[in-house]
Amino acid sequence: MLQILMDKFLDVDQSIMRKDNFYSNLLESKKKFVNYVEKGHGWKEVNSCPICKSSEYIEEFSFQSVPIVKCQECHLRYTTLVPNDLSDVYESESLYASLLKTDNAADAYREYKKNRFARERVDIISEVCGPLENLSILDVGAGTGFFLEAAAEAKAKCTGLELSKEVCEFVESKYGVSMINSSLTELDEGEKFDVITMFDLIEHVYEPLELMKKAKKHLNENGIIFIYTPNFDSFNIKVLKENSNLVMPGIHLTYFNSESIKKLSLEIGMDCLYYQTAGMDVADVLSMYKCTGREVEARSMKDNLNVLQAMIDESGCACSIRAIFR
Ligand SMILES: [Zn+2]
Repeated sequence: MLQILMDKFLDVDQSIMRKDNFYSNLLESKKKFVNYVEKGHGWKEVNSCPICKSSEYIEEFSFQSVPIVKCQECHLRYTTLVPNDLSDVYESESLYASLLKTDNAADAYREYKKNRFARERVDIISEVCGPLENLSILDVGAGTGFFLEAAAEAKAKCTGLELSKEVCEFVESKYGVSMINSSLTELDEGEKFDVITMFDLIEHVYEPLELMKKAKKHLNENGIIFIYTPNFDSFNIKVLKENSNLVMPGIHLTYFNSESIKKLSLEIGMDCLYYQTAGMDVADVLSMYKCTGREVEARSMKDNLNVLQAMIDESGCACSIRAIFR
C-alpha cells in the first residue's frame, strides 16, 4: 500500500516553496495584516455562518484577538471579525507588486509553479472532463496566469479574471494569456464556460456561497467549478493551530473541511464529484520546528517528509482541498 502511495505521490521542491525563513516571515506577515486592518478601516462582526446562516458557534482559537469559530450546524470555520474594507489588506502590502516582478528569480518561481502545480490541475480536469482540447476555461483570480498558460498548452480556450488592471496587461503581454480586468460579479451575464476555476479564492471573500452561485450562472451545460481552498481538518492546522500559515485573519475569512464542502455543494445545488486533499503540511510543521529550535523533531520529520505527506494526502487530512462541482 505504501509503495502505491509513493508511486503516485508528486513531491514538491521545498528549497523553492519553503525557504529557511518561511515560518518566521509568516508570523510577521500574519501580525502585519491584522495591524493594517486595525490602522485602516477596522473590523466588522460576522454573526452567522456564511454558508448555512446558523448563528450557533463555538470558538476554536484566536489569533491577535480575532476569533476563529466552528459553525455548530455545518462545521465551517470562520473568523467572526472581518475587515470593513478589504483594500486594507490587499493594497497595503502592494501584493500586486509581487505579481509584476520580472527578475530571474520571479520567472523561475513562476515556471516551477506552472510545471509542478498547474499541470497537476490540468490533469485533474482531464480526469473528470476528458481532454482539455477546445474546453473553455475561466480562471477567477488568475494572478500571473501560470495555470492558464498550462491549460492553453493543453489546447483549452482560456480566459483569466483579475482585479488589477496592471496585472492583466502584464500577463497578457508577457505570457499571451487572455485576461479580463473584472470581478466575477461584473462579468457580462451572457459569458459562459465549460470550466470555471477558483484556486485559493473562496476563503478570501465575505460571501463564498454567493460567489459560487454566481460562478454556476456562467457555466455551460455540464460545466464544472473547480476550487482549491485550505482544509481546516488538516495536519497543518491540527499541529500549528492559530500559528498556521493557513490561519490568516483579515485574509482568510472562511475555512472549509469535507463536511462544509458537502454543505456548500447542497446550497448551490451541484454535486461534488471530485474531492481530494494534498499539501505541504509536513514541510510547514518542519519549518516551525526549525524556527523554534526543535532540531530533533525537525531531523526525523525531514528524513520522512515525502512518505508522511503521501499518507496525509491520502487520508484526506492534507492542508489543501481540491473539489469539483457539477
Ligand atoms: Zn454553517
